[in-house]
Amino acid sequence: MFPIRCFTCGRVLAQYWNEYSERKDLGEDPAEILNDIWAKFYPGQRPRDCCTRMFYSFVDLTEDYNYYKHPHEETYRKKKIQA
Ligand SMILES: [Zn+2]
Repeated sequence: MFPIRCFTCGRVLAQYWNEYSERKDLGEDPAEILNDIWAKFYPGQRPRDCCTRMFYSFVDLTEDYNYYKHPHEETYRKKKIQA
């Protein structure tokens, strides 16, 4: 689960995670995505380094957590990593 707020400045960031991750999965440059989001919601501002860090460093462990919580359920089995 993505953190609700930036750990350093406290700005609420969670509402931007879906757009960021969907566009990143489509292959867009993460820096450009953040610049677009900031231009839309904070005109004239650039994303702060502390808030940018929240997006770049986040690793979603929800699937791993579900696997260990429900190890016998087929839906939570670990997917094979494609090489
Ligand atoms: Zn911040």
